[in-house]
Amino acid sequence: LVRLRARLARSQNSLGKGLLTLLSREHLDEETWEEIEDTLLTADVGVKPTQELVERLRERVRVLGTRSPEELRTLLREELITLVGADLPREVNTESPLDTPAVVMVVGVNGTGKTTTTGKLARVLVADGRSVVLGAADTFRAAAADQLQTWGERVGARTVRGPEGGDPASVAFDAVKEGIAEGADVVLIDTAGRLHTKTGLMDELGKVKRVVEKHGPLDEVLLVLDATTGQNGLVQARVFAEVVDITGIVLTKLDGTAKGGIVVAVQRELGVPVKLVGLGEGADDLAPFEPAAFVDALIG
Ligand code: GDP
Repeated sequence: LVRLRARLARSQNSLGKGLLTLLSREHLDEETWEEIEDTLLTADVGVKPTQELVERLRERVRVLGTRSPEELRTLLREELITLVGADLPREVNTESPLDTPAVVMVVGVNGTGKTTTTGKLARVLVADGRSVVLGAADTFRAAAADQLQTWGERVGARTVRGPEGGDPASVAFDAVKEGIAEGADVVLIDTAGRLHTKTGLMDELGKVKRVVEKHGPLDEVLLVLDATTGQNGLVQARVFAEVVDITGIVLTKLDGTAKGGIVVAVQRELGVPVKLVGLGEGADDLAPFEPAAFVDALIG
């Protein structure tokens, strides 16, 4: 975790450092506040959250009067943690209330890191002593099932797959069936994310969901978003949220962007917390999202 934090810090702290530098100016004039706004907007925080944050900062700086660097840092840290949402539930629900495995569906546009995230999550669960079955319901992308199976073999989880180009819903159904038969703790279902037409996606994901729910309720639906796509990710999020009830967000490739503000924007957009972050391509590069640690990495 320390290593991950260090990596996050390296890529992210331009935002926090920039804000701190601006706030430390002797005269906080209109122009400086505008620069602070620009810094936040550039980091993908979004217009409304930016306005709210700047308003609160202005008020607190005014009340504070003269400011020491430590006071400014504390103030900025507190406000950023509030902005990121300190109290949101971040736990990925992998406990089924029933006697059957918990079912987690992973959705998102192809290329965002869905399969990788599913593999990493399986690794975390297996390391935690849970038995996992993987469902390779991304039957569209030729290599996806192989890729997932490789993850499965690596971490010790069985992969249920179907013929290439086959029906994703039937793979998902079989995976849950297999999970029940094996008495597995968790079934993770990787899905295809073709955004060519919204109705196509709706039909496909909707069917996967309905079919899985024949066995019992979905316990978690994780939407995987690539942090480097910025505002585009928000558009994707909106489309997926229309199709399935997203219960958590995984923000991948945070190691490759200084635009950490997308965490704030996407939570606002969906009203759903970021639960996990991807910080690299390796097996250990999936971390729970912790607001305070995230903000500390931002501020440096
Ligand atoms: P999918 O099409 O959504 O299943 O995407 P993949 O899981 O195949 O991932 C697409 C690419 O992104 C692969 O090269 C992954 O190794 C890479 N990737 C996934 N997550 C991360 C991450 O958190 N950081 C970085 N740097 N790369 C990632």
